[in-house]
Amino acid sequence: VGERERPSAELLSIGSELLLGETVDTNAAFLGRELARLGLPLTGVQQLPDDRAVLARAFAAARTRSDVVLATGGLGPTHDDLSREGLADALGEELREDASLRARLEERFRAFGRMPSSNLRQALLVPSAEPLDNPIGSAPGWWVDRDEAVTALMPGVPSEMRLMWAEQVRPHLERRFPLAPLAIRTVKAFGIGESAAAERLGNVLSNPPDGIDAGIYARDDGIHVRFTTTGDAALLEPLVVRARTALGEDAYGTDAHDLATTALAALGRAGAETLATWEADTAGALLAILASAEPADGAARFVGGMLDAGGAAAAPVADAVLQLSLLPQDANGRSRVRVSLAGRATIPMTELRIHGSGPQRLRRAAFAALDLLRRKL
Ligand code: ATP
Repeated sequence: VGERERPSAELLSIGSELLLGETVDTNAAFLGRELARLGLPLTGVQQLPDDRAVLARAFAAARTRSDVVLATGGLGPTHDDLSREGLADALGEELREDASLRARLEERFRAFGRMPSSNLRQALLVPSAEPLDNPIGSAPGWWVDRDEAVTALMPGVPSEMRLMWAEQVRPHLERRFPLAPLAIRTVKAFGIGESAAAERLGNVLSNPPDGIDAGIYARDDGIHVRFTTTGDAALLEPLVVRARTALGEDAYGTDAHDLATTALAALGRAGAETLATWEADTAGALLAILASAEPADGAARFVGGMLDAGGAAAAPVADAVLQLSLLPQDANGRSRVRVSLAGRATIPMTELRIHGSGPQRLRRAAFAALDLLRRKL
């Protein structure tokens, strides 16, 4: 780790399609989150084309800057997958076919018939690289630990990358570096803007105790107030309590709690075992959110929704039916929704203002309806 107290890490997201905007770099978002939690936050991310010379320069520069260089993509069998070549050039090492990697590839292809000869490129290794198993794909990863710098190559396919990260790269990093993992607590609130929330939170947000970071983020499901520390996780609890108190009625939960589950629980307590929805001009946002809510004991069950695109439509039969319409934006770009609940639990028609634009408007409309349920029931 050299002179520095905490090891530094950076990421190379490799693939020309990333630069063309055809693939969104979700690998960087995933690894950024994971590395922060591990206590090894990213100091930078670069998206790079499938170009051997560019990759060689990028790997060489990153290895001199950072203790850990992670890369995803460019491990496929085709001529434009050049991550292995780029890293080999940066290390000044020669690529050679590895007999056991070749045997493993041939074994993997036995079920599909003959292996295309291009796949042999995936059996290449340099002397300082240790292969990382890819149980759900053909491209093995690489782990290189040389000259005080660690480099890991992982596949670009997100599912393969995530598995290799969880099963191999993360444990390797935990063994290699003394890391202080990050503890995270979140308080969530709906129906209040970011700046109004910041004002109510005052010192809790602007001046947290030493060793604790506090931040506020606007999301579709409201604002998230986040406290983190690399110290004792228990230090965060008093801040969570203070934040909840400051946000009052607007706070709906902490950490993994979400608005859909909270609303379904409120319906359950109000005597409705099932919920159906009817929504207009929201492109099914309410249905999509409720359909992925975790079922919970005593909570109402979501049994289905109807999208009304102008014609008459009836919601499925349920103990309670939640109706939501998104009204057209006014001249100032402001949006309102109309929400009501009928059946075993009722809420009279209520009009609410929502914030946000584009696709966010649709999800905000749906969350506004769920927020009304948890407040009024
Ligand atoms: P494999 O050998 O398994 O194909 P690979 O390392 O060659 O993996 P790529 O060819 O670079 O991976 O990318 C394969 C696919 O994975 C891409 O078409 C894209 O859909 C997805 N992908 C690649 N990089 C990323 C990324 N950074 N974020 C999200 N998806 C990605």
